[in-house]
Amino acid sequence: MERIFNFSAGPSTLPVETLKEASEKLVNYENSGMSLIEMSHRGKLYDAVHTETIALARELLAVPDNYQVLLLQGGATLQFGMVPMAFLQEGRTADYILTGSWSKKAYNDGKAVGTANVPWDGKDENYARMPGQSELNLTDNAAYVHICSNETIGGIQFKDFPDTGDVPLIADMSSDILSRPLPWDKIDMAYAGSQKNLAPSGMAMVIISDALLQKARKDIPAYLRYDLHADGNSLYNTPPSFVVWMTGLTLKWIKSIGGMAEVERRRDEKADMLYGMMENSGGYYRNPVDTATRSPMNVVWRLPSEDLEKKFIAEAQDQGLSGLKGHRSVGGCRASIYNAMPVEGVKTLVDFMKAFMEKNG
Ligand SMILES: *Cc1c(COP(=O)(O)O)cnc(C)c1O
Repeated sequence: MERIFNFSAGPSTLPVETLKEASEKLVNYENSGMSLIEMSHRGKLYDAVHTETIALARELLAVPDNYQVLLLQGGATLQFGMVPMAFLQEGRTADYILTGSWSKKAYNDGKAVGTANVPWDGKDENYARMPGQSELNLTDNAAYVHICSNETIGGIQFKDFPDTGDVPLIADMSSDILSRPLPWDKIDMAYAGSQKNLAPSGMAMVIISDALLQKARKDIPAYLRYDLHADGNSLYNTPPSFVVWMTGLTLKWIKSIGGMAEVERRRDEKADMLYGMMENSGGYYRNPVDTATRSPMNVVWRLPSEDLEKKFIAEAQDQGLSGLKGHRSVGGCRASIYNAMPVEGVKTLVDFMKAFMEKNG
């Protein structure tokens, strides 16, 4: 059977080149007589993979020298807890901008640890847009401001990162990391679970400034300590070696296609094609979010009825277009079109949508 187009939100499609290279090398890595995922993480062969993966992430994201790139277990969800454990000291307040499901989860963990304030909440508008700078009631001297740069379920994205002055900005970028260059003058920490735009699940990439690292609490359990991970070059304990390897292969693939400029070009080509199709559908496919802050990674839409949505998803699946069901909390349809989704996949989807509308309009 051939591979199909997989629009799943995560774990999600990976570049086929990455999968092929890993499978070719899986059993006997570089003539070592064993797999990379069977060998010591303290050995030379693994160390080369680990070092190269971090170097490629630094290069592609233009990470400044005074930031560290960490590769940690526990996904983005562990970061929801690690951030307040490390940075939300007694007597301080952290700001959490609420723009949908994922920022809410981060906020809940902040509240579980300390005092969390909400400078803006999109709830009354059904989380259909990101706020502008002037709408944010930021706390003076907050411990940090937390945002989710791209809400994977709601399908909205901060186009500009908020300006938080001297207060550190921490961004959950799980579903849009490596889809755009980052303004490091505004961001103190960005983190992302691996299974959207990087690799299989099992890891979070954390990019953190030295200035913020210095504020990390040291009187907490070891794994929660960013300073220990930074001092140990993310080898404080056994790293998720398979995911680190796959991340490195994906980063090399990005370089091979032309780097971030090509990633951005393909991103816009795919998003424009899909949003454009919906705009020209006479309201048949309705994207429920604000045009100015709609996501180029997770595109959501409704059909005229839930019955039609069910039919749409089932027929698409039959034609090799998988994973188009919206998140169970919001319903509707969603296509996650991360870096590894080929332009051809979105083209096929758009053709299917046109044909479906003609038959069922
Ligand atoms: C998927 C996702 C998460 C959760 O990631 P895990 O790796 O499963 O913990 C958090 N935030 C965002 C924005 C996501 O898309």
